[in-house]
Amino acid sequence: MATATLTIDLDAIAANWRALDRLSAASVQTAAVVKADAYGLGVARVARALARAGARRFFVACAEEGAELRQALGPGPQISILTGHMPGDTEMIHDLDLTPMLNSLEQITRHLESLPGHPFGVQLDTGMNRLGVEMLEWQAVAPILVDAGPELLMSHLACADEPDHPANEAQLKAFHEMTDGTGLPRSFAATGGILLGPRYHFDLTRPGVGLYGGRPHEAAIPAVSLSLPVIQTREVEPGETVGYGCSWTAEKPSIIATLAGGYADGLPRTLSNKARLWDGDTPCPLVGRVSMDLITVDVTHLPEVPRSLDILGPNQSVDDLADEAGTIGYEILTSLGPRYTRRYQERPA
Ligand SMILES: *Cc1c(COP(=O)(O)O)cnc(C)c1O
Repeated sequence: MATATLTIDLDAIAANWRALDRLSAASVQTAAVVKADAYGLGVARVARALARAGARRFFVACAEEGAELRQALGPGPQISILTGHMPGDTEMIHDLDLTPMLNSLEQITRHLESLPGHPFGVQLDTGMNRLGVEMLEWQAVAPILVDAGPELLMSHLACADEPDHPANEAQLKAFHEMTDGTGLPRSFAATGGILLGPRYHFDLTRPGVGLYGGRPHEAAIPAVSLSLPVIQTREVEPGETVGYGCSWTAEKPSIIATLAGGYADGLPRTLSNKARLWDGDTPCPLVGRVSMDLITVDVTHLPEVPRSLDILGPNQSVDDLADEAGTIGYEILTSLGPRYTRRYQERPA
């Protein structure tokens, strides 16, 4: 088989959810963010595992993702749409019982006019300047809107992964200013915000990356491993080069393994001549450029060439690989390619 195997540990994801849930008080609900196909890991399997672990509320980016998630979960769990109520979404929001987080006066008007009485939340902009109703707009509409009964007021932190960043306190202050006295349920913290402590927790937390084993949830159990099959090996002589651009030159007689997996599978080209793959606990340097479907690895030092090498696993996390590639774990996860064979691990209940 010339496709790599991505193993997804659903028990680890469930355990990470429970661990993040325990970091806030029992009165604080813990949701699960499963946007972008559950950060590339497969929304149907991941969301069902999280529902079994106790998650009752899920966040996705758009209504289409909400539709797919509703199909996987069935009726019951609440599905919130972070981009709110966009033109063309009304029927899906109604029929599949999705809860849009309204981001602008335009969305508020659209929602209240097209689906009066249908549940909604409001996302407030407390300083990130990305999504949400701004302070002055909110002051104008809050008196009317609070009567329409939003089921959640939420906002999002720009720098939660940097605990000492002054933006955290500034956003917290703005969120209090905008929401104190409304008596409505509030949500402020994603993974990073949970770790900032109870002042950031409010009524509902919304962890995403920490469920999947990524920073800043340093205590997380790794949830993915990725093993790339060896297609071919060859001996190269000193002075011979490997791959596009002849960017790596053998200094001694070397054995080079060609593995299935390239930038089309989400292995960034910036890993060229940088990353390591692993045969158990033995590192093997990636040599030459990452190409579309293949990478080349120096296995000269291995006693025998294995059938596959790991690029994600116990010795190399998504964040380790992201550091090598000059990106973040989120991008490694959400780039995991559609060609991989996804294998799910879950202990029978
Ligand atoms: C993606 C996202 C989350 C989850 O963030 P993590 O850092 O992955 O925990 C929560 N809330 C909003 C608004 C988001 O966009």
